[in-house]
Amino acid sequence: MSDLVIPSDLLPLDGRFGCGPSKIRKEQLEHLISFGDTILGTSHRQPGVKDLVGRVRAGLGELFTIPAGYEVVLGNGGSTAFWDAAAFGLIEKRSQHLVFGEFGGKFAKAAAAPWLETPDVIKADTGSRSEFVPTPGIDVYAWPQNETSTGVMAPVTRVVADEGALTVIDATSAAGGIDFDASQADVYYFAPQKNFASDGGIWFALFSPAAIARVERIAASGRYIPEFLSLKNAIDNSRLNQTLNTPAVATLLLMENQIDWMNASGGLTWAAARTRESSSVLYDWATGIDYATPFVVNPEHRSQVVVTIDFDDAIDASKISKALRANGVLDTEPYRKLGRNQLRIATFTAIDPADVRQLVASIEYVTGRLGN
Ligand SMILES: *Cc1c(COP(=O)(O)O)cnc(C)c1O
Repeated sequence: MSDLVIPSDLLPLDGRFGCGPSKIRKEQLEHLISFGDTILGTSHRQPGVKDLVGRVRAGLGELFTIPAGYEVVLGNGGSTAFWDAAAFGLIEKRSQHLVFGEFGGKFAKAAAAPWLETPDVIKADTGSRSEFVPTPGIDVYAWPQNETSTGVMAPVTRVVADEGALTVIDATSAAGGIDFDASQADVYYFAPQKNFASDGGIWFALFSPAAIARVERIAASGRYIPEFLSLKNAIDNSRLNQTLNTPAVATLLLMENQIDWMNASGGLTWAAARTRESSSVLYDWATGIDYATPFVVNPEHRSQVVVTIDFDDAIDASKISKALRANGVLDTEPYRKLGRNQLRIATFTAIDPADVRQLVASIEYVTGRLGN
């Protein structure tokens, strides 16, 4: 099995289908090289890097058509660090979390901090999703726009509840691949290693004026907040195109090129159409054959950027991903803790729909030869 050779005319041109880190386009690497000797290896307190941060912030503002008063904020540590920063500096007393997979659950865990009230956690079985419940006393409503561990997507719709309650969206794997209305979220945070096809380690967030006011109020309240996790500090630094400590400059350069590519190609509507095309190829295929089926039963919950496909018990999906890997088609394994007989495939914006069609051809080729 492991020495199965997939004919080259069936293989994708680029074999990277992982959900993060994910495929980086050749043009991004060329961008990195062409600025390598003027920006890489220079001080992040000087105009070269500061201007780069400014271009990335402006490019994101354009891509997401942010409403007046919204600000693009960044900080070090990736989305995981943002959860802790939010526990310290965004949640006033109590948050509500929709948990329908690993990532939503991780934020709920970070919000179970001793200085806050026990979070209200609304769970759904993996493969479906839960809905928010406006509740007195809740000041942050949080859920992932795309649950990367299961391939379930959820709408971004502001929760109308207590006055001043904030809608906080984990868009780590959704941002740049799914269209939405930025005015519907108070905080829309993400990291660069998914649709932005860059490296990890930084978080970005769109903050509404209400969210900025919340951060400022909590920062002035006397609550203990470690400096590295201070959102107030991140907002103040971002306004100067700075970060508290040294950012990954190569990550910013890779991201700049991806944002420019998206904006020049037609923006978020274009990107969303592209990921919808790629994911439809997989869903239509899995729906049409008898040995596999989309894991997410409700078509409205199915993600357009992370596709999960269950296989019949008679077929061992891990053998498929192993054979694909041996042929240079990488990271189609399911989320490790989900433990299903499944393939998980990213259809992020960088991934070419033509390559997704080739991937299907490769999977069919391998499946037809399993056990032979
Ligand atoms: C990848 C991912 C994260 C974690 O991002 P890091 O930058 O690695 O911390 C969080 N949430 C979602 C939905 C993700 O897909």
